Amino acid sequence: MSAIKSLYFCGVIKNDIYQAVIGLEVHAQLLTKSKLFCSDSTAFGAEPNTQVSPVSLAHPGTLPVMNKAVIELATKLGVAMNCQIEQHNYFARKNYFYPDLPKGYQVSQHTTPICKGGFLIIHTPVAEKKILLNRIHMEEDAGKSIHDNDEKNTSIDLNRAGMPLLEIVTEPCIHSADEAYSYLTELRKLLRWIAVCDGNMEEGSMRCDANISIRLLGETKLNTRVEVKNLNSIRNVKRAIEAEVQRLITLTENNEPVIQQTRSYDALNNTTFALRSKEEADDYRYFPEPDLAPFFISEEYIETIKNSLPALPAALQKKYTTQYQLSAYDASVICADKEDADFFEALLLHTKNYKAAANWMIGPLKSYCNENNIGFASFPLLPAQIAELIELTNAGKINFNNASGKILHEMMAKPGSNALQVATDLNLLQESDNSALQSWVDKVIEAMPDKVKEYHAGKKNLLGLFAGEVKKMSKGKADMQAVTKLLTEKLNK
Ligand code: ADP
Ligand code: MG
Repeated sequence: MSAIKSLYFCGVIKNDIYQAVIGLEVHAQLLTKSKLFCSDSTAFGAEPNTQVSPVSLAHPGTLPVMNKAVIELATKLGVAMNCQIEQHNYFARKNYFYPDLPKGYQVSQHTTPICKGGFLIIHTPVAEKKILLNRIHMEEDAGKSIHDNDEKNTSIDLNRAGMPLLEIVTEPCIHSADEAYSYLTELRKLLRWIAVCDGNMEEGSMRCDANISIRLLGETKLNTRVEVKNLNSIRNVKRAIEAEVQRLITLTENNEPVIQQTRSYDALNNTTFALRSKEEADDYRYFPEPDLAPFFISEEYIETIKNSLPALPAALQKKYTTQYQLSAYDASVICADKEDADFFEALLLHTKNYKAAANWMIGPLKSYCNENNIGFASFPLLPAQIAELIELTNAGKINFNNASGKILHEMMAKPGSNALQVATDLNLLQESDNSALQSWVDKVIEAMPDKVKEYHAGKKNLLGLFAGEVKKMSKGKADMQAVTKLLTEKLNK
């Protein structure tokens, strides 16, 4: 069956027989200082079981107290993802037994997720696509079971119990591993941008489960799905989806049934394996949490949150490509990170050379950041200092190589210095005054009549020779871009 061997692109499995259908559930741990219902710290990496008050340990008689910062972050994300914010909220108990869940239930939301609907736009190689959200709800995390500490026992760390999470659930509208990859990349960027979650998948503060099924292309019904867990990087989500879709196609081609299962991804062997079957629907016996009062979110509150949001990456990217005429690539690189975009915005307060500013950002400034492993927020020079450098380069007073090499680095070595002073001290100012340049150009051309004849006879590369002579005459100070322009004008008169 050649169909099985096929790969797929943009949702359509190449031979046009099957379509992958994927819905993603992302758990984002919120950047609050304390847990959802008590004052235990949320800091990562502490000794096991040191951030565990009686509330986290579920001692009898303890009561939860709502952390308002969680509602704020949930509303922020909902507004940023174009969701409808639920005004009448309550928490519900989701009951199940597990050793790392001391209460025997998880406090979650059931019929009133705080955010409904909404979408996130991703860019596929062919077009923009809206990834539709089903809901975002608040819930508390469970503790962590550690199985590989010792052979016979499972260890439990309850530092994570009661951590505030948002579960962000898409509709089953994702149709390829690449789309899933783009969605998660965009989502993580947004979460970081608005400081809702640090997006760190290795530390588990952003986790993703992928629900996957396949159907014949053109069908609209949803077939039996599997849920793949334990995906610790965006790249592994992509690889797991590719592997799982292939497995589902093989099953289908062999007339074997797809069983609704929870599976785990084994990155080493690039395969998935069954954890448990999910045939009997989970019965969590949800009921409203009696220890927490229902709460109301007012229109004014939502409006305040809306107004407090920074410009979002998608809007900024659009502004850069339309208003500033930057390429889509440049705009996306600058908006990869809020720190970068903030620096760029600050640069633009001092220079209107958008393209040059973008080139500086993506080129020498970004290289410096990468080499020194710092972000733009800790860049050693102020945007105003960089802007001066850009302006001087654009005016032809210094050339780009000197500006981005010697002058930039000298300025960093001398805090508070300005570009013009440093260029002067280093003797790197170049002559861009047209009358001075013109007289050198005239002299060079007068002195070399034979070469000028050859040039006119077709030896156009002699331009370099003339330019070199002007450079010599100016003791290296001529603005060579302007010289080339003047030479060409004069020779072609
Ligand atoms: P559960 O509560 O069992 O996790 P949900 O209805 O909340 O189920 O769905 C979880 C995720 O699975 C959602 O992202 C949804 O889009 C996705 N999903 C549901 N049915 C399918 C299917 N047949 N194929 C792929 N994804 C699906
Ligand atoms: Mg689920």
